[in-house]
Amino acid sequence: MRFVFECVECGGHYLPPEDMVYPDGPASPVWCTACQGVKRAAGVREDPLLARVALAAARAALAGRIAEAAEAAEQPARSDVRPSRPPRSRRARSGPGGVRSKLG
Ligand SMILES: [Zn+2]
Repeated sequence: MRFVFECVECGGHYLPPEDMVYPDGPASPVWCTACQGVKRAAGVREDPLLARVALAAARAALAGRIAEAAEAAEQPARSDVRPSRPPRSRRARSGPGGVRSKLG
């Protein structure tokens, strides 16, 4: 899974390559591609401390996403336990609806 970073310049979220290297150079954990280009053109380098904090935040966010994915992966297994649920709700939805259309 790849890290999602929040650009400190424009506040946008961006997803650099897993190895943190773009085809034209290293990716920044602080700036998105657009802002990185602007900063590089202006001769501004990223703050190493800010980069480390951004990496830590991205790592924490990734851990959260993995936990979410693990939770989501449990859902299908749980629905297998109750296979009668979907047909029952489909019948319930068609029943009252049909009656209502006859009355109206
Ligand atoms: Zn940006």
